[in-house]
Amino acid sequence: MTPDRSRSLWQATCRENLDAAALHDDVSADLVVVGGGYTGCSAALRAAELGADVRLLEAETFGAGGSGRNVGLVNAGLWLPPKKINSVLGEANGARLSTLLAAAPAAVFELIKTHQIDCEPVQTGTLHCAHARSGLKDLRKRHQQLTAIGAPVTLLSRGDAIARVGSDAVYGALFDPRAGTIQPLAYAIGLARAAASQGARLHASSPVVGLTRETDGWRVSTPGGTVRARHLIMATNAYPLPITGYTAPATIPVSYFQAATAPLPADLAGRILPQAEGCWDTGLIMSSWRRDRAGRLIIGGMGDLSHPARSVHTNWLRRKLAVMFPALADHPFEAEWVGKIAMTTEHIPKIIDLGQGFACFGYSGRGIGPGTVFGRRMAEALMHGDRSLLPIPVSDDHRLSFAGVRGAYYETGATLVHLLAGRVGQTPTPTDQ
Ligand SMILES: Cc1cc2nc3c(=O)[nH]c(=O)nc-3n(C[C@H](O)[C@H](O)[C@H](O)COP(=O)(O)OP(=O)(O)OC[C@H]3O[C@@H](n4cnc5c(N)ncnc54)[C@H](O)[C@@H]3O)c2cc1C
Repeated sequence: MTPDRSRSLWQATCRENLDAAALHDDVSADLVVVGGGYTGCSAALRAAELGADVRLLEAETFGAGGSGRNVGLVNAGLWLPPKKINSVLGEANGARLSTLLAAAPAAVFELIKTHQIDCEPVQTGTLHCAHARSGLKDLRKRHQQLTAIGAPVTLLSRGDAIARVGSDAVYGALFDPRAGTIQPLAYAIGLARAAASQGARLHASSPVVGLTRETDGWRVSTPGGTVRARHLIMATNAYPLPITGYTAPATIPVSYFQAATAPLPADLAGRILPQAEGCWDTGLIMSSWRRDRAGRLIIGGMGDLSHPARSVHTNWLRRKLAVMFPALADHPFEAEWVGKIAMTTEHIPKIIDLGQGFACFGYSGRGIGPGTVFGRRMAEALMHGDRSLLPIPVSDDHRLSFAGVRGAYYETGATLVHLLAGRVGQTPTPTDQ
């Protein structure tokens, strides 16, 4: 069976639907939001709740970017452990961000409930798995730092991790009960629908092509119309289309691909992730796995499927599946897709001050909770005129040296690791990574 590469699993299984006409007029608003992923939709929702007249412009369809392509792990923090965050942002700002993001999964699951978003929410936690004995050191460090700030995380023994994952290829795990999984595209579309239900006006198929600063705000142009607005939020993250008058902040693009098996038969479903936690591992070239509502196993790793090394990555994924879950060695993949992660050098998102507006980007692979929180907080900061509501201080620096080169570095690293794993006929071992 050849996997469907024309659309992602999330597109194939999304039950949320939203029609939003393109912008075909010259209009005015309090706030114009550019980009219909989690950040933009969450900002539009919050601003509309606060009574603002909001226009949300999305180039394609809501969730067309990273928000509709990701793994769907709703984490309670960033990729970095708390001390590292503090070393970049300073103790006070770092601690404040960690506290805000610790509550992010609860906020996401609450929004899902409030707006009845049909996005397969499962809040049975996540398992950060040691891919080798060497990975335990990282998990112990994270456990120590997270418990020190009050996070209810547990370090699982190898035996417990094996039982929870249903694979003896894990060496221990850090369990976070606050976290969980969602159908990521359905969440993005549901957030957009929620924003519309609060009065935000949404436009799909409306790529912003021009941006002009005016004395009292902004003029934003699409091929079909313009929006004049006092406030602006740019939320285009890793998928920015060119806009005259605006240089999108540079990020390091890292490709991450996933494949979904056919639904597992009942006997295997009872053994592989029986509690449906979302998982990722400590490998330098990380991989992830989770289940969806229909019982498919979704497995992913770094690499670009449009790259010449496509078959290196897909062959690696097939071997990885066989090593992790031997019973699935010949289980067919139904779908295969890729997304671009926007990394920053420090792996911490940034908010750029545009004057009467912000640009926000660079969640570095952790955008479901953070994107929801950052969008909401930017809307509140603009509507209340109070920047202390922002989750992090604004930054002036939106350039990144050699962003493309660094992206190529990740791709080369992923290709090499996946290639080497193929040569030795297995997934990377402790000495490989
Ligand atoms: C493969 C992958 C796996 C990931 N896994 C996870 C995970 O498990 N957990 C997690 O928390 N995070 C994960 N992430 C990160 C997360 O998906 C992103 O951080 C998040 O989706 C970013 O949301 P956003 O709204 O900022 O940007 P996006 O969702 O990328 O939205 C940007 C939008 O802007 C639109 N746009 C661009 N230019 C224009 C323009 N000129 N005019 C109008 N619209 C425009 C795009 O079409 C796009 O829809 C992953 C990301 C990827 C790619």
